[in-house]
Amino acid sequence: MDLKQKEDSRKERIQKLKRGFAYNIFYRQGVTQKTASLNDYYLAVAHTLRDRMQHLFVNSVQALLEKDSKIVCYLSAEFLTGPHLHNNLVNLGLYEEFEQATRETGLNLKELIDLEEEPGLGNGGLGRLAACYLDSLASQQIPAIGYGIRYEYGMFDQEIADGWQKELSDCWLHPGNPWEIKKADMACDVGFGGHTEIYHGEHGNRRTRWIPARVITGVPYDTPIPGYKVNNVNVLRLWSAEAPTSFDFADFNTGDYYGAVKDKIMAETITKVLYPNDEQFQGKKLRLEQQFFFVSCSLQDMIRIHLHSNESLDDLYDDFAAQLNDTHPSVAVPELMRLLMDVHLYEWDKAWEITKKTLCYTNHTLLPEAMEKWQIELFEDLLPRHLEIIYEINNRFLDEVRIKFPGDADRLSRMSIIDESGPRYVRMANLACIGSKAINGVAAMHTDLLRRHTLADWNTMYPGKIRNVTNGVTPRRWIAVSNPRLTKLICDAIGEQWITRLDKLRDLEKLADDTSFRDAWYKVKKENKQDVANLILKKEHLQIDPEAMFDVQVKRIHEYKRQHLNVLHIITLYNRIKANPAIDVPPRLFVFGGKAAPGYFMAKRMIKLITSVAQIINNDPDIHGRIKIFFIPNYNVKIGHIVYPMTDLSEQISQAGMEASGTGNMKFSMNGALTIGTLDGANVEIREEVGAENFFLFGLNVDEVMSLQASGYSPMDYYNSNDELKQVIDLIASGHFSGGDQELFRPLVDSLLHEDKYTLFADYKDYINCQERVGQTYQDRDCWTRMSILNTARMGKFSSDRSIMDYSRKIWDVKAFPVELKWERLPKDGVLFTPPTNNKKEAQP
Ligand SMILES: *Cc1c(COP(=O)(O)O)cnc(C)c1O
Repeated sequence: MDLKQKEDSRKERIQKLKRGFAYNIFYRQGVTQKTASLNDYYLAVAHTLRDRMQHLFVNSVQALLEKDSKIVCYLSAEFLTGPHLHNNLVNLGLYEEFEQATRETGLNLKELIDLEEEPGLGNGGLGRLAACYLDSLASQQIPAIGYGIRYEYGMFDQEIADGWQKELSDCWLHPGNPWEIKKADMACDVGFGGHTEIYHGEHGNRRTRWIPARVITGVPYDTPIPGYKVNNVNVLRLWSAEAPTSFDFADFNTGDYYGAVKDKIMAETITKVLYPNDEQFQGKKLRLEQQFFFVSCSLQDMIRIHLHSNESLDDLYDDFAAQLNDTHPSVAVPELMRLLMDVHLYEWDKAWEITKKTLCYTNHTLLPEAMEKWQIELFEDLLPRHLEIIYEINNRFLDEVRIKFPGDADRLSRMSIIDESGPRYVRMANLACIGSKAINGVAAMHTDLLRRHTLADWNTMYPGKIRNVTNGVTPRRWIAVSNPRLTKLICDAIGEQWITRLDKLRDLEKLADDTSFRDAWYKVKKENKQDVANLILKKEHLQIDPEAMFDVQVKRIHEYKRQHLNVLHIITLYNRIKANPAIDVPPRLFVFGGKAAPGYFMAKRMIKLITSVAQIINNDPDIHGRIKIFFIPNYNVKIGHIVYPMTDLSEQISQAGMEASGTGNMKFSMNGALTIGTLDGANVEIREEVGAENFFLFGLNVDEVMSLQASGYSPMDYYNSNDELKQVIDLIASGHFSGGDQELFRPLVDSLLHEDKYTLFADYKDYINCQERVGQTYQDRDCWTRMSILNTARMGKFSSDRSIMDYSRKIWDVKAFPVELKWERLPKDGVLFTPPTNNKKEAQP
């Protein structure tokens, strides 16, 4: 094609987009261009894009059916995808054309992009990881299905009222969700409760059947997940609970209309709302119902797909690798066993082989309070057949342990699926470890701790079963979509390859000493900061100097993440300025953001502490604006798009040994922030990659924390021996930040003085000193900018593309499956696409 032809076909495509908008406004939204609301226009543009994705999706499905390749099934109770429109436009390479087509229609694409509500179907890191992995699976051309729950209400919206967190319900589906398609004909039934029965099968062998007390239907909603500039489109399949269509109308006949409707509502409560507790196990029955519901639907779905092109389930594991994202889906172990034995009539040994070769388990946490363990009575009441299977798995497993470690009763009780130390519980991590072919940690240090401590018994029992796959994040969303200025600067300097080969960012290293590149780099950061300063001024009437250092901690609010250590530093600076107004403190904006679990007393009080300290310091004339503090409400993916690109200093200050990996740390660094952090989670590897000289390290390491705690840690000793620390704590306790109220922060202060479980006091001095070095370095703009460039340049390892390739090689044994475009999209004869000859309806995965 010559240049003119190219231009003509581009013009034609723009025309088609404009026709698509008009068509969707009229026929789908049912309004005229005059009466359409902005949301109508958003939906029309989104649907126009979705139609183009559907074409690729149908191609991907057909390609898979022709030549079956292994499919990765990522089972996760959470997928924190973030808004889709902008990301899909970038991945499909259609941003510019949509930009022009909307402009020529009189619309503003940016405005429409901002309008999109994000599906808040996750709490934080774990759910966001699942979303990054979906992006990388598609971009690496690995066939995959994300299986999860379509919560009607996702993560609550956070407002700050009078300095406190207020939770509002998240009605994300209210404006309409243009990305999902309901697949009613692929619904699955899921049982709950009831009892089991023994019967004799065809060949006289003993079999069990489960007679559930109630049945609920799972209906899948599919959201296409396009890879970056490839034809592969994968799918995120989320299950929604409905009453079975065949449900008992006897109630109607007896006139109990409300009784019948009540059952329907009860059924739908299962997928009503996401539990908002991050890293905190609650033990609620409805939560186990949610877990079993989506796991059962997903396994039934996989079996249906497999049986479409296979005679039996003997080699299910050749077609599927099912990754369990934490223990939330670990009831998959007994459920797959039940489906194989009770429904598909396999004997135990073969069923067990298939199960173990299909499932893989990712451990995400070392926090004891996060470990899932269900009370036996609750579990039995809901899943009686599964408890029988678990007992049998456990008996056989414990025999194995006895043979390998004769006479080791302690080991048996530690490794048993059933916790019998008091009231009995089902330990889901043990179940997942036994029932899967591989266990993985999420950062080198975390995996090491799993092997040495948390899962030491398993490491001894099955050497090599515990593997490491360090987490990663997708550079599409976390650079290309969210930081267009930096993207342009990098592309102009080294080309575009880095977007799918993040290690190519190394080419920036040589530019770190180039003055004009450094200036351009600094300018990008400053413009990103200026945008946010304008926003904060408009919304909060807080004046921000874009030259000030933006020092940011955004993540879930949790004591182990130590947002309050950050506050201790801020108050230390405040005290220093108050004591010596002429002191040289370079201007800083401290930004916090994050949600607290609604029932987490201390975390909510930490938010109140941050906002109260902000109130006093922001308005103290003695400070002369050198310190400003801002709490961004409702931290979510959309806010993340703004925050990571604006940051100079990334706070990753968890107590060593507590943060399994962290992924926020990676997003910051990729966008040129320097990190102040402890040797925890992926910080360790980030520091290795960017170089110790480009990372601000402080604090005890994990072994030091452990030995300090073993020797009887006394926070009071630190308080008594460090004047500045004492002043800070006394100032909080005095009511200085709470209008004289000495009770408000007493629980926080007392817990620090008397327990300080996360050793803030032990790390305080080193943290303050390290922050001083940070401040000095920031004043040397050239030096800082150079370090910033080197951080970005050396973050290649932390692309989720690398993580996915690690999983593919170390765990899943899958290969890329590039999809070719074979099926026409555009109707020449009024048909939507040319139907392939073997297009069986039930073939659709
Ligand atoms: C990345 C991300 C997280 C995880 O942050 P950490 O600092 O790793 O805890 C949480 N929430 C959102 C919205 C994110 O984008």
